[in-house]
Amino acid sequence: MLLKKLSLSTLGIIMLFGCTRNAISGRSQLMLTSETDLQSQALTEYKDFLSKNKVVTAAADKKDYDVVQKVGKRIAAAITKYYAQKGLSSELSGYKWEFNLVQSSDVNAWCMPGGKVVVYTGLLPVAQNETGLAIVMGHEIAHAVLHHGQERVSQQQAASIGGSLVSSVLANGKNKMASNVFNAVYAPTAQMGVILPNSRKQESEADHYGLIFAAMAGYNPQEAIAFWERMEKMGGADNTPTLLRSHPTNATRIADIKRLMPEAERYYKAR
Ligand SMILES: [Zn+2]
Repeated sequence: MLLKKLSLSTLGIIMLFGCTRNAISGRSQLMLTSETDLQSQALTEYKDFLSKNKVVTAAADKKDYDVVQKVGKRIAAAITKYYAQKGLSSELSGYKWEFNLVQSSDVNAWCMPGGKVVVYTGLLPVAQNETGLAIVMGHEIAHAVLHHGQERVSQQQAASIGGSLVSSVLANGKNKMASNVFNAVYAPTAQMGVILPNSRKQESEADHYGLIFAAMAGYNPQEAIAFWERMEKMGGADNTPTLLRSHPTNATRIADIKRLMPEAERYYKAR
């Protein structure tokens, strides 16, 4: 949508030099910023976020703390295995997994590039159980490993920098992106109202691979249908959860998830 504002020639230059084919999905993605730079910026934003929010410790709530650690570690192990089986372990270089539960009534969870995962306590009643949590964490982590953050930041950069700066940015891969670009892309640190929803393609990919990762980690992928149906019912109110605002959910999406189920179930049964 934002790209439409660019002239065709500028768009041509960006597409020519800025696109990379994703090793897992095969889809061509606009990549103006490097994964390394993004992971570095993500780490700064992640630490800042943790310093400003109440992180739930094992001492404070052992049951909820433990379930987030357990699900996160199982999904990370499944992803490591999946990429190794495809000979793509290098895609995960720089990933140092961390899982945190933070006290917040918001229904939300996210994974930053580099494997920094945060679950909000407000998500737990909607997830309902360990498997529901695995569905959400699998989906969020899939966004990260599929470079969706890198792609969205790049789209924002392309839209905001304008034609004259594009070539210099492309020549200088170490460009520092503005914090507000990062924040607009990442719901965690965004102000209310400026969250950019994931594209349908990104959502579809995160559903697809998130289901596979959760299934490989030993969680029944069927739970995804019930979870997203619960999420769909939470929409429309004044207090629509952040997770729903960044992940538009409707009957089409749920039908798509059902269509993905046979493949996910094969991974679930093959463990
Ligand atoms: Zn998503």
